[in-house]
Amino acid sequence: MEVAPGIFRLELPMPFELKHVNVYLLRDGDAYTLIDTGLQTEESRQVLNQQLAGLKVPVKRINRILITHIHPDHFGLAGELRERSGAELIIHRLEVALMEPRYARAEDLVHDVGKWLSMNGVPEEEAEFVKSASMGAREYVSVVEPDTLLEGAERLPVDDSEIEVIWTPGHSPGHCCFYWPARGVLLSGDHLLPKISPNIGLHPQSGADPLDDYIASLDRIRRLEVETVLPAHGDPFFDHRGRIKEIIEHHEARKAALVRLAGGGPKTGWQLAAELFAGIMQRNVFQQRLALQETLAHCQSLAVEGRLHKQVSRELVTWMAA
Ligand SMILES: [Zn+2]
Repeated sequence: MEVAPGIFRLELPMPFELKHVNVYLLRDGDAYTLIDTGLQTEESRQVLNQQLAGLKVPVKRINRILITHIHPDHFGLAGELRERSGAELIIHRLEVALMEPRYARAEDLVHDVGKWLSMNGVPEEEAEFVKSASMGAREYVSVVEPDTLLEGAERLPVDDSEIEVIWTPGHSPGHCCFYWPARGVLLSGDHLLPKISPNIGLHPQSGADPLDDYIASLDRIRRLEVETVLPAHGDPFFDHRGRIKEIIEHHEARKAALVRLAGGGPKTGWQLAAELFAGIMQRNVFQQRLALQETLAHCQSLAVEGRLHKQVSRELVTWMAA
């Protein structure tokens, strides 16, 4: 579906609670740029092939693949598509460092995550399951070395104008949005979504204060003149400043709730997550892990602000209202 002149949205299936990821094809003269790739599954591959065929775009015409971040739904098919197309694969260099430990040497990472869970108060019996919660992700991705690395603020020629790389750390340390000012379009990846707020988590592979990084990245996006936001999940939307305001309010409310929960004395991240996300924590270990990470990101931001006291020993991290 053409969502803006020369920009096509391809909706690819996922076997998760979140059913789809959008990748975008940008016409660039005779060639095309692809933004993100979808999961490495047979279903996703087939739907992508069908949609390209429907647009009469042979895969060889894709000469550039831009990646917003390395989560499997965005990066999964990157290696295979580069192989088939010969395209230049472009990604922020902070994402590249995450790739190997996450997808190729996952056993080491699981060990680190196990230690980290215990530091944050997860009981040993539960930590056993929670620490392996994301191991399944590996089957949806292949590790591949990119051709070109980004740091943010690069300008990439496209058609008769340029795309600007906007580095937006928060959801992932090297997340990038791609801004096409001549078309008034922001390709926002997971940074700015219409219906859900992306998971912002503190964990062994995150930035040290990911929520504040994320809010600062939203600020960077707010200043842009954007007519249409093309997100990685959900439909195109228009009022980016309104949506940013809602998301910031959502995080502020969550922070206020945490200050209340931490009022009665020092608590671990696990205890706080169980209270803050009571319903979600019962769903499955993957949701538990995300809830813990999200809780800790908010706690860290509150500690930086001075609204929580963060205590750390060799065994345990705890948080208490200041
Ligand atoms: Zn993501």
